[in-house]
Amino acid sequence: MFKGFLDVAPRCEVCGLDYSFADAGDGPAVFVTLIAGFLVLGAALLVDVEYEPPLWVYVVFFLPLTLLVCLGLLRPLKGVLIASQYKNKAAPGRLDVK
Ligand SMILES: [Zn+2]
Repeated sequence: MFKGFLDVAPRCEVCGLDYSFADAGDGPAVFVTLIAGFLVLGAALLVDVEYEPPLWVYVVFFLPLTLLVCLGLLRPLKGVLIASQYKNKAAPGRLDVK
């Protein structure tokens, strides 16, 4: 469903479903921020309490870990949100003016 890293393709390659409805907005970024923050910050706090390593350990280890977790989660979460948008027929609100 993606062309490139995060761009949504115009239609499904398999069944031809039109992806014009797909707009996950900032949803994936919100979930990625919350999940990655919990995982990485929790791990950093645990490491700090258990081992009290020097500052460079955080820069060398947790900075790349943050990038990996964030980039690794972004695409699957966008796919999940678009799939749930499709399943629940979610769309922007419209006024029913007659
Ligand atoms: Zn399809």
